[in-house]
Amino acid sequence: MYIKLIKITGLLILLLLIVLIVKTFNYKSKQVAYKLIKPVPVSSHCIQHLSDAVKIKTISYDEPSKFDSAAFNNLISFIQKTYPLSDSKLQKTIINKFSLLYKWEGRDTSLKPIILMGHMDVVPADEENKKWDFQPFGGEITEEYICGRGTLDDKVNVIGILEAVEMLLSENFKPSRTIYLAFGHDEEIGGENGAKKIAEYLEFQHVNAEFILDEGLVITRGVVPGLLPDVALIGVSEKGYLSVELSVETEGGHSSMPAKETTIGILSAAICKLEKYPMKPLISEPVQQFLDYVGPEMPFFLKLAFANQWLLKSFIISKYEASGSGNATVRTTTAPTIFKSGVKENVMPSTATATINFRILPGETFDDIITHIEKTVKDSRIKIKRIGHGNEAAKVSDIHSLGFMQIEKTIKQVFKNTLTAPSLMIAGTDEKHYSKISSNLFRFLPCVFNSDDLKRIHGVNEKIGIDNFKNCVRFYQLFILNTCE
Ligand SMILES: [Zn+2]
Repeated sequence: MYIKLIKITGLLILLLLIVLIVKTFNYKSKQVAYKLIKPVPVSSHCIQHLSDAVKIKTISYDEPSKFDSAAFNNLISFIQKTYPLSDSKLQKTIINKFSLLYKWEGRDTSLKPIILMGHMDVVPADEENKKWDFQPFGGEITEEYICGRGTLDDKVNVIGILEAVEMLLSENFKPSRTIYLAFGHDEEIGGENGAKKIAEYLEFQHVNAEFILDEGLVITRGVVPGLLPDVALIGVSEKGYLSVELSVETEGGHSSMPAKETTIGILSAAICKLEKYPMKPLISEPVQQFLDYVGPEMPFFLKLAFANQWLLKSFIISKYEASGSGNATVRTTTAPTIFKSGVKENVMPSTATATINFRILPGETFDDIITHIEKTVKDSRIKIKRIGHGNEAAKVSDIHSLGFMQIEKTIKQVFKNTLTAPSLMIAGTDEKHYSKISSNLFRFLPCVFNSDDLKRIHGVNEKIGIDNFKNCVRFYQLFILNTCE
């Protein structure tokens, strides 16, 4: 009897192994094959141009009173002077005083236009901070780097696009389809006055774009575990954003006779529950696409796991959940950010409020979050209210669309030995304002970032390699040719 059982178990294990291995061998690469193209010469003036742009302190502050309009005007004049062909041959519209929109009229009006985006503002940099090896707004150029705030986020992008457009204009290139360049001035504080206004203007003009390409994910080096080659991550969606205020009101009273349950205690208990029971993890569509693209490129055992997600999905999710960024990739996150209560040490507060910020996975909605809070907190004394500007998770853009395919192709042509993969953007971009202008929104900056570079975004010692920046210009030049020749 036992021997029979052992035999059957052995047979089942063998069968399972065969299935796992067959699935692994049938797990085909999704990488497209395009030949690397000989790099086009890029004028070294572009280095000085990026450095000069960095010197203009177009900083976005949370406090509107700190806004320096002169700096933003300077950047607009700088662009006008530095890119005379773009400024004269393209139709320029200044939106809401400080944002820029250029229209490069296409030869064929039956083709839908495309939009290339970037933002002209940067986050502040503490200039007294001794951790900076150079002046954050000095625009220092060394043998290898262009240094300062904006060299990774996002002046590199704005200047990269303009360099490419100016190059093409100097060669008398005329695009088949219309190209818009849209540069907002307040992305770092939500884009309400910049990108949102540009999008409203475009909507008013009935612009329906084939696709839009904005900053976002990058070509990662040594960042995707298990993969040696660089991996270009193309953001096909971005997480949503919702802040919710929880509040509770009680009688209050004297602290010498506290009630059994206090205002602060009730609200704290609610927050603890939300932390303990977050939204369930899930593999959203863009993350599934990421797995499908990188899985076949992995070394054997990882490839086996990716090829057999029917069996090993929970293992993959648990790996993601182990790190903060991984967890944010597979889950709508819950972040209590503000707690307010109490006015005096011997007075029981009668009110307490807390703000919780949720970043929502594609596939989940505001309503799902509110239902989740109600079900988890299960306390009728807690009032739940949506606050601030929220946005639902972005619709997932089509990876079979022209935009995605041309981004993939251009990456392969410009960047040697680089894998491509659709992916989910955890942070937000200005594209959240463009959902009515196109259904294909992509978030990708054509620059190579290693893990140190990733820390420098919004951090200290922001700088970009000169060759890295030149390849960014090459990417845009070729991308325009690929999509608009
Ligand atoms: Zn940015």
